[in-house]
Amino acid sequence: MSKIVLVSSCLLGIKSRYDGRDAKNEKLIKSLKGFVVIPICPEQLGGLPTPRPAAEIQKHGGKAVLKGTAKVLDETGEDVTAQFIRGAKETFKIMRISKAGTIYLKDRSPSCGVTSIKRNGKTVRGQGVTAAYLKSKGIKAKGVR
Ligand code: SF4
Repeated sequence: MSKIVLVSSCLLGIKSRYDGRDAKNEKLIKSLKGFVVIPICPEQLGGLPTPRPAAEIQKHGGKAVLKGTAKVLDETGEDVTAQFIRGAKETFKIMRISKAGTIYLKDRSPSCGVTSIKRNGKTVRGQGVTAAYLKSKGIKAKGVR
């Protein structure tokens, strides 16, 4: 089994979130002892700055964004769909190049959400764009709150 894991960088304490903060998860960090950990942030990989305006998938979830039937808009109304898709593809590329066996993604994010995302500030069921893209490639990400 590969000892290489990709992890949403904000979970590792890197201040990559839209608001310039992190979402450090000590329990996850402890559980990764002995693994080679590669931090990734799909939104940064997609070319977005940090901090950046918060963004949401306007309807449905990441799968619909990939199909072209939903958009990702930030709170200023800018369409950031292309950056979100690019970040998803770059994350997949890193997963392949590094031969990582597992990826942990931060739930409730429009990129990283595995079981939930935010809409109108509320948590709803659904996947972010990166989680949905990875799923389409046969990779089941593990969601972390
Ligand atoms: Fe964290 Fe993912 Fe948001 Fe980047 S895109 S800050 S890794 S939840």
